[in-house]
Amino acid sequence: MSQLTEREILAALSKVNDPELHRDLVSLNMVQNVRIEGGGVKLRIDLTTPACPLKGKIQGDVENALRAVPGVTAVEIEWGAQVRHGQKQEKGGNFIPGVKNVVLVGAGKGGVGKSTVALNLAAALRLEGATVGLLDADFYGPSVPIMTGISGKPTSVDGRTLEPMEAHGLKVMSIGFLVEPDQAMVWRGPMLHSAITQLLRDVNWGNLDYLVLDLPPGTGDVPLSLAQIVKAAGVVLVSTPQDVALADVVKAKAMFDRVDVPVLGIVENMSDFVCPHCEKSTPIFSTGGTHRAGEAMGIPLLGAIPLDLAIRMGGDKGTPVTVEYPDSKQAQAFREMARKVAGRISVQAHQVKLPVFNLG
Ligand code: ADP
Repeated sequence: MSQLTEREILAALSKVNDPELHRDLVSLNMVQNVRIEGGGVKLRIDLTTPACPLKGKIQGDVENALRAVPGVTAVEIEWGAQVRHGQKQEKGGNFIPGVKNVVLVGAGKGGVGKSTVALNLAAALRLEGATVGLLDADFYGPSVPIMTGISGKPTSVDGRTLEPMEAHGLKVMSIGFLVEPDQAMVWRGPMLHSAITQLLRDVNWGNLDYLVLDLPPGTGDVPLSLAQIVKAAGVVLVSTPQDVALADVVKAKAMFDRVDVPVLGIVENMSDFVCPHCEKSTPIFSTGGTHRAGEAMGIPLLGAIPLDLAIRMGGDKGTPVTVEYPDSKQAQAFREMARKVAGRISVQAHQVKLPVFNLG
């Protein structure tokens, strides 16, 4: 039998599509380092994110395609990841060149668990192997210092830029590290602009796959200005299933549409309460509403996070549940959400933006 060639292998893989990007693995540059030893084929697949939600499907499709090539007797896949830039790269867009994707986390109103979701999203992406930062830009109520257990102030080596703090494998910066907790701040336009620009540009973030940015709640001037200043890969909206919180999410979606920030999806937080004694599930904040609102707005549901004691305690003691109990049900809910977020960002990064013609 004739010797297998790399060309035959690549030809077979050029018929395997990435299930979300709908393009073949070879033209997406995901197939690397093909080695052939007799009938054995070894190769590396570089996913577009280490948190790829469809890795299992890709693995099955690659194995099937290669085993169908005459002469192939064994397939060995090594996994890598090359996270793509999700930000718009137009002028002025990327003032933090080492950061590939800024992911905003917003909510229509306060207290729905936006910061909890932002922190656990960052921790979950980290667990999957990504390099991740967390920027707390909740100017009115920064809760990330407590939720990460970080105290003290960031330092500067060169007198110009700040070193981020670190916790749980994340680079962390919070407006709360820089402003005294009891110092009432009235954030006006120019001041806000310079504060957020500094937090993004004058912090040594280094190379990050994802910078998760916790926005202030609501649809007022502050989140609007922030969303305009930061050229983000997209925004994750957090809501409880209640109608009142959802109505606010609808407003938030309209706001992000206006400033051209893609809405990646919606996360339903406090979706139901599972009794730690009898394990009975109770939908304290109603049920199904987030799903319905998501469908009505044409945005996917990225996850449903239970109302849970361990989640609240993790936030209070500075060790998020995703870090402390990574295999728990609660952490699994966050990890599944993170994989969906990462998948949506990859899709977003590959989508060709077509001009929108307003015929109305
Ligand atoms: P926001 O950022 O929207 O104001 P936080 O993330 O600060 O909300 O959450 C408000 C409070 O609710 C915190 O005490 C937090 O620990 C708690 N919390 C948030 N999500 C959950 C949850 N899924 N289960 C239990 N407690 C939660």
